[in-house]
Formats: sequence, structure tokens, C-alpha cells
Amino acid sequence: MSALAEMIPFLSSRKNRHVYVANSVSSYNSVINAGLIVPIGDIDSALLIYIAEKLSVKFNLLFSLTRQIAVPTQAYNKYRNQFLSVSILNSMNKKYNYAKVLGIINEDIYISELDFIFGESHIRGRSALISLKRLKEEYYGKVPNTELLKERALKEAIHELGHTFGIHHCMNYNCVMFFSKSISDTDNKKVDFCENCLQQIS
Ligand SMILES: [Zn+2]
Ligand SMILES: [Zn+2]
Repeated sequence: MSALAEMIPFLSSRKNRHVYVANSVSSYNSVINAGLIVPIGDIDSALLIYIAEKLSVKFNLLFSLTRQIAVPTQAYNKYRNQFLSVSILNSMNKKYNYAKVLGIINEDIYISELDFIFGESHIRGRSALISLKRLKEEYYGKVPNTELLKERALKEAIHELGHTFGIHHCMNYNCVMFFSKSISDTDNKKVDFCENCLQQIS
């Protein structure tokens, strides 16, 4: 997400932060020391390959793709016409024993405190999720732009995975860890961590 979205529960309920790191690495006898990208629903394969290649370089960890899974109906909220992010995150965390797991979904996602989020993750955990819904130009009534979508998705993926490495939000609007309240924030920031954020990686 750039979403501050995801950080709000972390910051506002630090005492309960264990909730967000449940099913951590210790749940498994062995965790595969690699990253896994999980398409949730039908995601463009060129975008998936692009993200996998870029993340592998950025985090010095090999990210591979797995077969797509169905959009989880249990996470759907018919009143909001959105999917509850944490429900998807937790089920991915249980299912895949990789060091880092990134879900990519077309549908709109949310946490209860906010209208929407671009993504969410388990801070200092293994799993992250991004939604492409509001990264697409057509969402804003514009002409589809495949290249721009790839760049936006990469920024949000790096942002969310950055949280799983223990990095918090950054006040530097050029830094990938800047919290995007809107798509213009995402477009303004770079794909890179600033020096301060790099030092936070744990
Ligand atoms: Zn964030
Ligand atoms: Zn930063």
C-alpha cells in the first residue's frame, strides 16, 4: 500500500502487534530461502515476470512465480464491494513457506480503518499483498497504460516488502517507503529506498 493504510493498525496498536506477525517463520520446520509471487485471480503474465525480476535484484533474493489461486470469496465484503486484505494475507502466510510471499490481486482491498489500501503486509513478517485496482489508469477514467501500471505495481510491491524487512513509513516523498494516500503520491516516489530506510532493513 502504500498505504499508510497498513501502518495505521501497526502504529495505533503496537501492543497487539503480534497479531500482525502471527504465523511467522517459526511456524514452519523449514522456510525456503526465496521469494514467491502469488497471482490471485487472472494477472497479466508480463507484469508478473517484470515484478519477479525487479524484486529479485532489489532484495537480492530470488523471486519465482507460482500458479494463480482463486480470489478468496471469504474475504469479500458485499457491503463495501471490496476484499478484506488481512484475511488474504493470513491465508497466504499459512499456505506458502517461503521467506517472502507477495500476493498480487486485481480486486479492490481494504482494512476497516480506511476506504481502501494499495497494499498491506506483515511488518517484519513474510507476507505482503498489493492490489492493482487503483494502480490502473482506467480506474481514473484514463486510457490504459501497461508500462505505467508495471512501474506503479513495482513501487507498491517494494514498499510492502520493505515493511516485511522492518522498514517503517518515510517522510521523504521521493522514497519508496513514503505512504501513498493517492496515486499521485505513488507516481511521485521512486522505486528506491532512501539512505535512512536502507539502514532500517532488518
Ligand atoms: Zn506502507
Ligand atoms: Zn525513506
